[in-house]
Amino acid sequence: ANTATASGATAFQVDSPYVHYSEGSIESDYLYDTTIVSRDSESGKLKAKPTKVHYQFKTRTKVGRVGLMLIGWGGNNGSTITASIIANKKKISWETRKGTQEPNYFGSVMLASTTKLGVDENLRDVYVPFNEIVPMVHPNDIVIGGWDINSLSIGDAMRRAEVLPVDLQRKLYDELNELKPLPSVYYPDFIAANQEERADNTIGGTKQEQLEHLRRDIREFKQANELDRVIVMWTANTERYADILAGVNDTADNLLQAIANGHEEVSPSTLFAVASILEGAPFVNGSPQNTLVPGVIDLAERERSFVGGDDFKSGQTKIKSVLAEFLVNAGIKPLAITSYNHLGNNDGRNLSAPAQFRSKEISKSSVVDDMVSANNILYKKGEHPDHTIVIKYVPSVGDSKRALDEYVSEIFMGGLNTISLYNTCEDSLLASPLIIDLFMMTELMTRVTYRVKSDADAQEPEWQPFHSVLSILSYMLKAPVVPPGTPVVNALAKQRMAMENIMRAFVGLPPNNEMLLEHRAF
Ligand code: NAD
Repeated sequence: ANTATASGATAFQVDSPYVHYSEGSIESDYLYDTTIVSRDSESGKLKAKPTKVHYQFKTRTKVGRVGLMLIGWGGNNGSTITASIIANKKKISWETRKGTQEPNYFGSVMLASTTKLGVDENLRDVYVPFNEIVPMVHPNDIVIGGWDINSLSIGDAMRRAEVLPVDLQRKLYDELNELKPLPSVYYPDFIAANQEERADNTIGGTKQEQLEHLRRDIREFKQANELDRVIVMWTANTERYADILAGVNDTADNLLQAIANGHEEVSPSTLFAVASILEGAPFVNGSPQNTLVPGVIDLAERERSFVGGDDFKSGQTKIKSVLAEFLVNAGIKPLAITSYNHLGNNDGRNLSAPAQFRSKEISKSSVVDDMVSANNILYKKGEHPDHTIVIKYVPSVGDSKRALDEYVSEIFMGGLNTISLYNTCEDSLLASPLIIDLFMMTELMTRVTYRVKSDADAQEPEWQPFHSVLSILSYMLKAPVVPPGTPVVNALAKQRMAMENIMRAFVGLPPNNEMLLEHRAF
């Protein structure tokens, strides 16, 4: 099929005087078009001024050897993604009632979706795999490791998860049974009390010693596997929110001091983020809690290391970020969005405790904000649709999460429209490909630098990496963390367009749009 099977493969070469391929990199000159809007002080009318900004991008083309370290490796997501990558890498198929099933990467934007490259000489669209615009890492080439507070091997964790089909589990078990999670940091106060019996694989000592332990784990994993880069991702239990306290986790120095003092409001996930940043390893938070406290972001900026989060956008919220955008952009006014979930996996068990549920509720609830505030015809300033989220733990449904949503909207002339959705799916089969996409996109951003050119420059500006907070990961995340003071985009189509067009800019291609002038005006 069309999917690349090796890191670094690209589908095309760009033919342009503004794009330069050299031994180790691709450099592009790129004019970024924006429209600057101001208000005329006399007439009060808006003035729009088209503006071009001259960017240069440099993408290192050698991907190198890359590792992924998962926190919560023995969980449903951690074991499912590990098993699935091995099945793909080794082309292990399995028997089902309907015949032989081949492994695939369905659900990964990078590996199972395409993007329009351009049109051919007959004006027909040409599409390429998303991951072949610029050289990207391929999951089949990576090394996976990680931590879990539970000591089960990844083979036994896969069995416990009850996600993958039994015939596949049988074929993978021996290999996965060799994989053992590293001991982790466990502070009972941060996850639900019902998780306590799992915690048989933990690190003792002070917070400072634990930080050093985690840093050593990352270094040793890198050395032992001869890796050029390690990316760390939290896919462990949802924690409660940490309080943001002045003098504790508000700045980089305060946070490092708070760890040295063993302050109780520094969560395990924040400790992992700090360890990763100090090791120069990008850190991504796949759960809803506020791991990336201001002190973490400050530290990442200072160390020029990357962070991203929060919370994988897998099912209900993903649909919400499509449907709400559609409704509001159609001039229809959502009045109430009411969402119920029930699930029976360990995530559901953990979320049955109020403080952990609250983290999830917060991350699920801001998802329509940008769409609502973009339309001041439908919504007055500060007005917002009712938005309610309920999650219940129902053990017997296991990983097969049920999501029920009702959207009530005001339509033409005061009429009402009600849309009701029922979504059922293996939760971990939705979330696992997001781990891959987050990993691949993050890895790419470690190889890209940029500079902004202006005629006024006396000398060439320095190449620099993108901002430490990777808002480009927003597509995969429910509550995207963005650089301080910048807008959050939740609308799914916009988020995908951002990834696509920024990757095109790296190889000097204009953004994709749907003008199709070649078919309308010729
Ligand atoms: P899970 O409960 O099966 O796995 C979590 C694992 O983390 C467990 O094995 C647990 O032992 C381990 N753990 C807990 N605290 C730890 C710590 N301090 N250090 C290391 N390991 C620790 O959950 P899951 O279904 O794999 O989901 C993982 C996370 O992803 C949850 O927070 C969940 O809310 C989030 N998430 C999942 C989905 C999805 O599955 N569709 C979507 C969005 C977010």
